[in-house]
Amino acid sequence: MACTRCNIPSGRLKKLASCDGCRKKYCEGCSGLSMEEITYMQQDKRNLKYHCGDCLEFDTMRLLKTVTYDKDKIINMMDENIKKLNKDLPGDIERKNAKITSS
Ligand SMILES: [Zn+2]
Ligand SMILES: [Zn+2]
Repeated sequence: MACTRCNIPSGRLKKLASCDGCRKKYCEGCSGLSMEEITYMQQDKRNLKYHCGDCLEFDTMRLLKTVTYDKDKIINMMDENIKKLNKDLPGDIERKNAKITSS
């Protein structure tokens, strides 16, 4: 086993954390984790997950795409609402004016 990025082999002094996304192994320096965190990540039962930089970037891209998709949907919805408002508004005002003038 060796670090995916710098190729340092794991041994007594070097421990490697494996990414929960792509399963690649990273050493202390390349993972950004401390030795204690890597030891924790090597346990089978754990509450925290480690994702390498590549996987985080991929996640961010996916998130950005989702947000962009929703943004277009929201703009379309707003557009339709504005069109509806423009159609409804003059009628409402006329009716209200009519009420005021007739009473
Ligand atoms: Zn490394
Ligand atoms: Zn990864």
